[in-house]
Amino acid sequence: MKKENLNPLHSLQQQIKLGCERLKLDSSVYELLKEPKRIIEINIPVKMDNGNIQVFKGYRSLYNDAAGPGKGGVRYHPDISKNEIAALSGWMAMKCSVVNLPMGGAKGGIKVDPQLLSVGELERLSRGYIQGLYKYLGEKLDIPGPDANTNGQIMAWMTDEYIKLTGNYNIGVISGKPIELGGSNGRHTATGYGVSLIASEVSKKIGLDIKNAKVAIQGFGNVGSHAAKHLQDLGARVVAIAKRDYAIYDNRGIDIDDLMMHTSENKDILSFPNTEKISLDKFWSLDVDMIVPAALENAITATIAEKINAKIICEGANGPITPAADSILNQKNIIITPDILTNAGGVIVSHYEWVQNQLGLYWSQNEVLDKEKKQMIKSFDIIWKIKEDFNITLREAAYIHSIKRIAEIMKIRGWY
Ligand code: NAD
Repeated sequence: MKKENLNPLHSLQQQIKLGCERLKLDSSVYELLKEPKRIIEINIPVKMDNGNIQVFKGYRSLYNDAAGPGKGGVRYHPDISKNEIAALSGWMAMKCSVVNLPMGGAKGGIKVDPQLLSVGELERLSRGYIQGLYKYLGEKLDIPGPDANTNGQIMAWMTDEYIKLTGNYNIGVISGKPIELGGSNGRHTATGYGVSLIASEVSKKIGLDIKNAKVAIQGFGNVGSHAAKHLQDLGARVVAIAKRDYAIYDNRGIDIDDLMMHTSENKDILSFPNTEKISLDKFWSLDVDMIVPAALENAITATIAEKINAKIICEGANGPITPAADSILNQKNIIITPDILTNAGGVIVSHYEWVQNQLGLYWSQNEVLDKEKKQMIKSFDIIWKIKEDFNITLREAAYIHSIKRIAEIMKIRGWY
């Protein structure tokens, strides 16, 4: 088999190009959207606990800010690259536009395995990231938030460092903060909750009853665990959960509340009782109604796509399906709800956090969830209609909707 192109920036560029062609846009639009507006690389020196200095690579990419300030999380991972951060920032630009937010797209990251650092080293590294970039960040400039391997505590250190360096209490500069520091109710669970809403809406469209639908989830971090929890609340049966090297399985349905409790104390899900350990091969071939990839990019390659038997794939992670896998799954008539729509709940509530920070007024959990639900379902309905009107995939429909809006704003602003 031909080696697959796993470059996420190339797959993003392909989607943007296709969208521009379908919309018959001026070629300038693709020129403006094919790469980030700016991408900054920094070296972050950190004094380690043993007294030595170690230097870590950090990135921040602002893809497009036509519709508003840059918005996007910061990922800590040993394998990140400048190219990956560029692609992730582009997906953020598309995502913010798909759900009609007054924000552009950005993303950042540090090349590090945070598990190898002490708490003190992690704090100094996170503060160092802000020291290197604070001039390019701001409530009305570029707004970081959490992503894979970063959390509310890290956002709190970053916010504090920003306040110290600028002398201004502009806490809207970072999203995903703890509630005590101006975080929004509902932000922690927002992405997973949004995934469950999209899963439920698409199920209705194809006549699948979400109650008792069998679901398999890859990844049990923030997105995967909360998607699992909310899907279970809707009546779905989460029968399998995959980690990096294996999966656990129980055809009667895994109790997600118990598993969440278990993972808060144990790193490994393998010791969770009453489940069977299965191989990843078996996981991907399971006879389930729905799969939710909620780990990282390129999880579903062409080889894996051949094995999949599900009716629906809801992309909880960003870019989990390679372009080659995407065409195989489309040929198999498997409905894919694209990442830029499916996992937009997180950035929607990050936007609410930003609004609340500027107002100095805070909404209840129910108010936040209710607003998120309305916004997600409204966006889903728009994208579904475009898909039906033009007889295209949901992914193509989402890109068309997103690019059209950004192109209109760039035109009005005189960028082309
Ligand atoms: P996280 O770090 O909380 O969780 C990721 C989980 O995936 C971890 O449990 C990790 O062990 C697991 N994992 C890593 N590689 C794996 C593999 N090969 N197979 C199975 N599991 C694997 O991260 P998260 O915040 O849940 O983010 C997951 C994905 O969702 C990322 O693509 C991220 O960009 C995207 N996303 C996150 C948010 C958010 O609000 N957190 C919003 C939108 C999109």
